[in-house]
This record gives sequence, structure tokens and C-alpha cells, in this order.
Amino acid sequence: MKKQVCILGSTGSIGTQALDVIRQHADLFEVYCLTANDRYEELAAQAHAFRPAAIVIANEAHYQPLQQLMSDMPEVKVYAGKDALDQIVEADPIDIVLTAMVGFAGLSPTIHAIRARKKIALANKETLVVAGELICQLALQYHVDILPVDSEHCAIFQSLVGEDQNEIDKILLTCSGGPFRLCSHEQLERVTAADALKHPTWEMGAKITIDSATLMNKGFEVMEAKWLFGVPADRIQVLIHPQSIVHSAVQFMDGSVKAQLGVPDMRLPIQYALTFPKRLHLDGDRLDLFRQPLEFLEPDMSKFKCLSLAYDAINRGGNMPCILNAANEVVNAGFRRGDCSFLGMADVIEQTMAQATFDANPDYEVYIQTDAEARRIAAELMNGRQTTR
Ligand code: NAD
Ligand code: MG
Repeated sequence: MKKQVCILGSTGSIGTQALDVIRQHADLFEVYCLTANDRYEELAAQAHAFRPAAIVIANEAHYQPLQQLMSDMPEVKVYAGKDALDQIVEADPIDIVLTAMVGFAGLSPTIHAIRARKKIALANKETLVVAGELICQLALQYHVDILPVDSEHCAIFQSLVGEDQNEIDKILLTCSGGPFRLCSHEQLERVTAADALKHPTWEMGAKITIDSATLMNKGFEVMEAKWLFGVPADRIQVLIHPQSIVHSAVQFMDGSVKAQLGVPDMRLPIQYALTFPKRLHLDGDRLDLFRQPLEFLEPDMSKFKCLSLAYDAINRGGNMPCILNAANEVVNAGFRRGDCSFLGMADVIEQTMAQATFDANPDYEVYIQTDAEARRIAAELMNGRQTTR
């Protein structure tokens, strides 16, 4: 029986690479459902190629034109809206839900998928940043496996295979350092979104590429590792590793360090999450360790303030990571539009963290309110800075 896969965010960087993996292993996987937010033409093209049972366009404005493009395939059901995402993940035939959509919007369908006992291949790290405790509780309650797609977490996960009884001493979380690793503070004052979108080692969606440039992405990944592997943040060390070859490592109590290495190619972690515990053939380059030395450096938290704000949010706990994430989504989009400077992003996030209502024991409803409040505060702060500039 082929595994039925639902891809949330199939038109994105992770989504299209996941389809590539599924195309190469069509004997093992079948696409049950594809979803997108705005790119309905691409979604329709994917539906023609993969013939899923259903597709969902989250932005309802595109429902009519999408339906028209699908009129020659009446067997594919077409739905629209956020609620449709929550419903489709519960469909009986689905075995695995790959959460490859971006941002806070991934939280609700992920919760629905867990409650419907679907295996989760998790790319949408914002879900764990915002509500890691709740997600872990639900996964335990519903006996659901969460398999990491993020390359670092896939590397940690691979390093932990066969180590069930053994305590982790330390996680070594690697980080390329992003495109501005060598910039001075003065240079950082002037960098633009176009500069930030030129990532040195990974090609990814726009939002995560900006998060990688500010190192907020690494802060998010510390939280992701904390929840996925149950290791406190003070035992997760971030190492700048510009070559992106060592994808992360685990140090055990006897001093042994196990790492996973490979060329930077997201199809590997996507495929591993889908096929675990099996390893299947994957086309592509192989690692040539003669070609380059491997460097490891300490991150500069004073230059990349977003990473230290992420540690602050972890230490405060409660809904603080949710506040951090919401403010970050606002400034990240603002920076891409040219409405916020590179260094302004961290300032707005810091002020939002100081102003938004803190809750030490949030539940789902609190996360929804917190997200809305923090977005409003961050937008006001960002727009205020713009008018006084
Ligand atoms: P992307 O921007 O390329 O694609 C995002 C996808 O989500 C698109 O299909 C889009 O239509 C959909 N989407 C966006 N907003 C939505 C909304 N509000 N409702 C429903 N659907 C929506 O992003 P990406 O780079 O593929 O990243 C996806 C997720 O995976 C992110 O959480 C990111 O942090 C994580 N991730 C990505 C990479 C990578 O290499 N791209 C690596 C690790 C983790
Ligand atoms: Mg990563």
C-alpha cells in the first residue's frame, strides 16, 4: 500500500522539493492533498501532475479561478479557506502530513492533524516556536510521531538513532551564519532585503531566508530542538559553520560526538522524514571532504541581536516565544517591503516583547490572542519608526 501524503504549502521551497522526492518514489508514496495560499496556478499545475484527491487554496479570493483551471479534472475536489486546511488534514486515507507552510498559520492545521493521529513531517518550525509545549503534549496524548524536516533537527534525529537509553549531554546546532556574517555594525545599518535574499548555502523561501540573515532562524531552531529532543536551551550550543556540511551533532555523556554530514540539499531531510527508518536512494551530489576545510566559530550575539532575543524568550517561557514569533513575522514582512531596516527588526521585536501581555501558562486561546496583540503592537512600532525617520 502506498503511503498517502498531504503537503501543506506544496508550492513553496519545501513543498516543491517534497514533490520531487515523491516523484522519485512513486512506488511508495501518493499525494492525497496539496495546499497553497496564493499561487493557485502553480497549485493547479501540481494537481494535474500528481492527481491528488483534493486541493485547498487558503486564500479564498483565488477559489473561482482555481476551480476553472481544474474544470477538466472533476475527480479532484477543490476547497478554499483556512478552515478547509483544518478539515482536509483529518481525511481518513492520509498517513503523513508534511507541514511546509510558513508562519503561525501552520499551528491550527498541525493541531488538527495530530488530533486525527496523522504522522507529522514537520517543516513549519513556527508551530513549535509558538506552542511547543502544547504540540508535544498532544503528540504524546495521541501517540503521534513528529519527524523533523529542518536539516539541523534531521541531523540530530539521525545522530540519536539507536541511542534511546542514552542521555544527551549537549546538542551542537550548526548555523551557516547567513549572508551578513562578516558585515560590520555600520554595514548592517544599510543592508537591504535583496542583499539578505542571497543566502550563501541554502535556497529557501523568502521569510526563512530573512530569518537566516538575522539569525532569528537559529533562535527558532534552538526552541525547535528543545521541544523535539527534550534538551534544555542551556545545553544547546550554536556553532557558526559557514560551509553547511555538518548539519548538527549530539554529544553524549562519554564525550562521543555523533554528527550527520552531507551536501546542503533539503530533499535529504524531507525524504528521511517520509521514509524513516529506511534510507532510499537520492539523486544528487555527494560530499567531497577533500574539497573544503570545515570551520566552526562562535556566534556574535551583540551583532545579531535576534538570536539573543530568542534566548530571552526561551528563558521567560510562557507565551513569550509566541510574542517573539508574531513580532518577527511583522518585521520580516516589513523588511521585505522596505518598511523596516535590518537593525530595526530586532528593536521592534524587543519593544514588542516588553509591551505585549505576558502569560506564564498559555493555552491555545491565549496563543491566538497573543499572536494578534503582538502583531498589532509590532506593526504600530514599525510604522511609528517609519514616520519619525
Ligand atoms: P515558502 O515561502 O517557499 O512556501 C510557503 C508555502 O506555504 C507556500 O506553498 C505558500 O502558498 C504556503 N503558505 C504561505 N502562507 C500561508 C498561509 N497563511 N496559509 C496557508 N498556506 C500558506 O516557504 P519555505 O521556505 O518552503 O518554508 C516553509 C516552512 O518550512 C517554514 O516554516 C520554514 O521555516 C520551514 N523550513 C524551510 C526550509 C527551506 O529550506 N526552505 C528549511 C527548514 C525549514
Ligand atoms: Mg534549518
